[in-house]
Amino acid sequence: MSSKHKSSTIAVRTGIESDTQYHAVVPPIYLSTNYGFPSFGDVPQYDYTRSGNPNRGLLETALYELESGKGAVITNCGTSALNLWVSAFLGSDDLIIAPHDCYGGTYRLFNTRAQKGDFKVEFIDQSDEVALAKAIAKKPKLILIETPSNPLVRVVDIQKVCAQATEVGALVAVDNTFLTPIFQKPLELGADFVIHSTTKYINGHSDVIGGVVITKTEQHAEELAWWGNCIGATGTPFDSYLTLRGLRTLGVRMRAHEESSQQILTYLQSQKRVKKIYHPSLPEHPGHDIAQRQQSGFGSMLSFELEGTMEQLKEFVGALKLFSLAESLGGVESLICHPATMTHRAMGEEALAQAGISHQLLRLSVGLEDSSDLIDDLVQAFDLIEE
Ligand SMILES: *Cc1c(COP(=O)(O)O)cnc(C)c1O
Repeated sequence: MSSKHKSSTIAVRTGIESDTQYHAVVPPIYLSTNYGFPSFGDVPQYDYTRSGNPNRGLLETALYELESGKGAVITNCGTSALNLWVSAFLGSDDLIIAPHDCYGGTYRLFNTRAQKGDFKVEFIDQSDEVALAKAIAKKPKLILIETPSNPLVRVVDIQKVCAQATEVGALVAVDNTFLTPIFQKPLELGADFVIHSTTKYINGHSDVIGGVVITKTEQHAEELAWWGNCIGATGTPFDSYLTLRGLRTLGVRMRAHEESSQQILTYLQSQKRVKKIYHPSLPEHPGHDIAQRQQSGFGSMLSFELEGTMEQLKEFVGALKLFSLAESLGGVESLICHPATMTHRAMGEEALAQAGISHQLLRLSVGLEDSSDLIDDLVQAFDLIEE
């Protein structure tokens, strides 16, 4: 494939008919850990699977072409993609700026490594211009953006942050897990790297843990591949095979997820128990105008506050049959999550309040069940707490 093709074509066709031995249409899985040298001193394309493997190679190609990049490193999870990135570029005196409402595991990783003296970190509200300017003035080496954020789907202006980063020579990565290249292409907006937890929408079937760092330049791809091999962060062939299989339908999945979430949003807006809804498609949502500019879709992660007692909230969640009470997101199955006691519980009460995550807040990952069934399920659960 080539990056002149549209996203769905790249996702579907990468590696198809690439098998030269049996002409398998779908590329086979290469589980072999090692590869023969054709002759003495003649280094093959792949020699040992930690440093490279055909299945990982195909997934890397598909992902960097989708993101308009030049290279990628597939890692064993999203967290190790973030760890690889900071390991490659930060020394003990270097500063990284991260969002105050970043993914919990990212916060824990950066904070713990900073406490060990590996590098310096500052967590700021990147939509606060004053806070951003103050942080940039400290000449950070790296900046991580996560947009839309979790669980309040706050939007950060990628172009604006990248322009300021360039002035001080900082490199910017965008965690694009929530939107995928179908709805947002950070490299085209000025970022240097894109990071994904492929565990979520990219694989899309809640059955593989994985991650990736995608680079704008070939040189950064080479550096990251070197570090990926050095620290042993790379993904396995079987996981890469499954992830590429999931990726093939990314385009249709993302559009179906979004269509369904729009219908659910319309229903939630008519529900008097729903106090506040968080989704970038809503005109009153902070950053709605930025989302309209930098995204080609609004995505299907949404949160809302449910008016009522904690007992009613528990009853509501318990009554749902088509929304599983579980963490993670981006799979074919719909999920409901109570961030304060689940994904974000490690933050503690004070930090939760500061981040605006109330105990009334529920987060939905809208799956691919029929949207009328999903809405019926919500209706019966709301009816129950009205009684
Ligand atoms: C899940 C997630 C991660 C971490 O990825 P893992 O695959 O669980 O290690 C990082 N960023 C975001 C936005 C995520 O949702």
